[in-house]
Order: sequence, then structure tokens, then C-alpha cells
Amino acid sequence: MAAPLRLKSTLALVTGGGSGIGRAICQRLSQEGASVAVVDVNIDSANETLGSLSCDVPGQEHVALTADVSRSESVSALMEQIQSRFSAPPRVAVSSAGITRDEFLLRLSEENFNTVLDVNLKGPFLITQAVARSIVSSGQNGGSIINISSIVGKVGNLGQANYAASKAGLEGFTKTAAKELAKFGIRCNTVLPGFTVTPMTDTVPQKVLDKVS
Ligand code: NAD
Repeated sequence: MAAPLRLKSTLALVTGGGSGIGRAICQRLSQEGASVAVVDVNIDSANETLGSLSCDVPGQEHVALTADVSRSESVSALMEQIQSRFSAPPRVAVSSAGITRDEFLLRLSEENFNTVLDVNLKGPFLITQAVARSIVSSGQNGGSIINISSIVGKVGNLGQANYAASKAGLEGFTKTAAKELAKFGIRCNTVLPGFTVTPMTDTVPQKVLDKVS
């Protein structure tokens, strides 16, 4: 069955759009009529996603852009590129960019703690703030911000202290953003997927895979 065209004339920005869950989100948004800015630190994979998007609705225009969501200069440059290319701000923003650096707590390095927090928590903060600012300054309220957390943020997981902390933090962040941004008609939600086979799960050891399958 064809997807309903609920997002006609809407620009959607998806970070981590070059792979896995983010790529599937880009594809679905495009099927529902949105123009999609596919954002990824890896421009080749973003371009691959771009080539897979539906473009059946008049006016629909997609773009692949590179940005590192953990760096504010990179997010600012991204927003400038979007502003110069599209007449309206993104009304939908999905932060799917995420990484793992799994290690048991007793061996977890400060660097691997910080890197995961920078991408998985600071990244959605920078994107949420930048997109909300662009919506508010456009003078036309309304939008939807979706941050991809994880069930691991609720229950914890062996070897993922850094990842679990980033995803639990993302929930608290998003709940607060929802309260602050409601007055601008901007809804903020987290989605908590369970185990989903993507390139991210390639590093999961076989004995762990045996338990989830
Ligand atoms: P994935 O590895 O397939 O895709 C992640 C994408 O994020 C990649 O394209 C990568 O290049 C991009 N990325 C990484 N660092 C970035 C950065 N600094 N700036 C911009 N882009 C960056 O992973 P996935 O499985 O699709 O995961 C997507 C999201 O879903 C993540 O936030 C992940 O934590 C979450 N999640 C995944 C699962 C799962 O089982 N796969 C479960 C729960 C939650």
C-alpha cells in the first residue's frame, strides 16, 4: 500500500541518515512526501541513501550533506547550507547518528566515555537547538524533533556504561526540550528501539547475538 503523503512540502533533516535506522527513516519520510536532508559524517553513505529516496511528489528535493553532529562548528555550517538551499527550515528533525565504544566499566577509557557522550548526547542537543532556533526565527511555529535513544538507556547493558548513560541522558534532555519548546508548537520525542540488525550491531559478539535471537 502506498504511504500517505502526510509530509508534502515539509523539509526533514535526518542525522545518521547514511546507514541503518537513519537510512530507513529517510526512505519512509521521502515516501510520505517530505524533502529530506540526509546528514552523515560519512558523505558516501549519505549519498547512497540519497539515491534510494522516493521523489514522486512535485517540489520534493533531497540533499546529502556531511556534518559531525558532535561539533558545534560543523552543525552551524550544516544549518547554513540548509538555509541557503531551502526556503523554509526543517520542520522534522531526527537525530539517529550514534556510535558504540563497548568496554566493561573497569576498563572503560575516559576517551571512549567522552566520544560516545559527544556523539549520542551532545549531538542531539546541538541539532535540537539549531533546528528549534531556525523554526522560531522563521516566525512560523510548528515542528517535530525525534531523538533516537535506546532501550539500553532504560535498563543498562553489560559493556555499555557509556552508551547507556548517553541514551538515558538523551531521554532527560528530550523531555526538557519538549516542555520548553511546546510553546512554539515543536513536539520533542524519543524513540527507544530494541535490538535491530544494522552495521552498528556488526561488532556485537556472537555469544551476545545468540541471546537476543
Ligand atoms: P548505524 O551504525 O547503522 O548508523 C549510524 C550512522 O551514524 C552511521 O551512518 C554513521 O556514519 C553516523 N554517524 C556516526 N557518528 C556521527 C557523527 N559524529 N556525525 C554524524 N553522523 C554520524 O547505526 P544504527 O543501528 O542505524 O543506529 C541508529 C541509532 O539508533 C543510533 O543512535 C543507535 O544508538 C540507535 N539504536 C540502535 C539500535 C540497534 O540495535 N541497531 C538499538 C537501539 C538504538
